[in-house]
Amino acid sequence: MTYIEPLSGIPCSPGVSIARALVIGDDDIVINPTPIEDGAVEEEIARFHAARDAALSQVRAISDHLALSGKVEQQAIFEGHLVLLEDEELEHDVLALIRQSHYRSEQAIHEAIESYAKMVSDLDDPYLRERATDCRDIGARLIRNVLGVQTFDLGSIAEDTILVARDFTPSQTAQISLEHVKGLISELGGRTSHSAIMARSLELPAIVGVKNATLHIRSGDLIALDVEHNQIWVRPDAARLADIRAVQRQYALQREKWQALRDLPALTRDGHRVELCANIGTVRDADSAQANGAEGIGLYRTEFLFMDRPTLPGEEEQYLEYSAIARAMSGKAVIVRTMDIGGDKELPCLDFPKELNPFLGWRAIRIFFDRPDIMLPQLRAILRASAHGPLRIMFPMVAAVEEFRALKAQVCALKDELRADGVPFDEAIPLGVMIETPAAAVLARFLAREVDFFSIGTNDLTQYTLAVDRGNEQIARMYQPLSPAVLGLIQQVIDASHAAGKWTGMCGELAGDERATALLVGMGLDEFSMSAIALPRIKAIVRSLDYEAARQLAVQVRECATLEEVEDRLQAFARQNSGASEAYE
Ligand code: PEP
Ligand code: MG
Repeated sequence: MTYIEPLSGIPCSPGVSIARALVIGDDDIVINPTPIEDGAVEEEIARFHAARDAALSQVRAISDHLALSGKVEQQAIFEGHLVLLEDEELEHDVLALIRQSHYRSEQAIHEAIESYAKMVSDLDDPYLRERATDCRDIGARLIRNVLGVQTFDLGSIAEDTILVARDFTPSQTAQISLEHVKGLISELGGRTSHSAIMARSLELPAIVGVKNATLHIRSGDLIALDVEHNQIWVRPDAARLADIRAVQRQYALQREKWQALRDLPALTRDGHRVELCANIGTVRDADSAQANGAEGIGLYRTEFLFMDRPTLPGEEEQYLEYSAIARAMSGKAVIVRTMDIGGDKELPCLDFPKELNPFLGWRAIRIFFDRPDIMLPQLRAILRASAHGPLRIMFPMVAAVEEFRALKAQVCALKDELRADGVPFDEAIPLGVMIETPAAAVLARFLAREVDFFSIGTNDLTQYTLAVDRGNEQIARMYQPLSPAVLGLIQQVIDASHAAGKWTGMCGELAGDERATALLVGMGLDEFSMSAIALPRIKAIVRSLDYEAARQLAVQVRECATLEEVEDRLQAFARQNSGASEAYE
């Protein structure tokens, strides 16, 4: 059957791809609920142990392969799987179910894994939900081994493929090879989910949050994935396919044109300069930042170094990582944000309290103040790494001037220590604050006197200003960074920084949203930081703009009372700005 209407979801990584689908599901697993005979217990236990030994060698092989290809972070996921496979409690639970309830191995594994996975996924925390996914991943591998069903490892895909799944596990995305994987489609997830972040960092076209994708799409179906128009055509007819191929060619041409601007400055037609930088999570992303013409790193989310591991990273490990990033950016500035754990990101090795409102709870610098054993090694590591390239330190979740003062005092004390020990570091390392709480925005004129720079985190600023949880799909329509309330705070922050002779950047998603580029330039934003893949398009828009016209736009938008008025004004501007039309398309 050919679909007349395309499927759609949340476009999260741009591009256009046409390839056969591979639907990843668990439908080849059938669990037999019939209990085993009394005398068969030992035999059943042996079946489980054989399956576990096989899983251990499979996972070790994947881990070794990833290590050989230099994919250290991906390898860490499988190292985590090994820890779980060797977990004595898991083994104990499975054996107890076999011995006491006479479950078959597959059912015992399923029950034991599910009770752990449910416990963490019921916490309704996206970070922990991912740990549940890891756990189920291991469960599925063990059950397949028990049943003698081969586990399909994504590393073995040999032809061009668009992957489709309810959700992608970290172990799946870790194995994706760009040689044959041409796109991702998932039923779950949003713009900031694991699959979305991975897809962007791999520069792989992706649409997530596609309802019932695994029902509508079968393995082998030809798929035309057009992220530009948020359309997934399943088994397109010849005419549709020809259309999408044209879109694909057009997109490739456009990217080539944008890419040609790579080494040119982000300058408006009348000579106003802004800076375009990339957001990164690991040293690997630095390559893609460079390839897409980033002028620096506007946000390095250091918390990724703290996640997916049983213990905290020490000062030395952090120092090596931050120095590697400083070197990879070859002299371009890197804003290192101190770890932002809490909210939707928890750490297994930190004893997190059960919180009713984690986003309003123990998060980021609030953890720092309670846990000097986390704060001091990180700050020392950043300071030491600043000897290898221009680093800047940025503090997330600041809501009071005294918080910044206390953090600055810590940095000064550490500098004294390093100086006394003769350890090199950048004496003039700039210190900035992330403006992501309404409190910080309101206090911007006071903060501006004390900081070196601001960077606006619109992802959180939007949720805290509008009181709309950024991860709640139920109220996603109310999550609007272009709301006049959020824009008013942004303007206030930019003006306050300029009045104090400082600069303001933006590292939330709005910085890479082409609908907002002209407006943000007109509002006076100095630096835009976004996922690397969004950079070329945003640069093309900046270079097509007239700064005076953008300033007028900002003045008009300041008078808009509703979101609809803002959007109408922005659309009208995009239409009028004929020079920009190509970049806006
Ligand atoms: C933000 O809040 O806008 C931001 C960039 O930080 P994060 O998304 O990591 O919370
Ligand atoms: Mg934030």
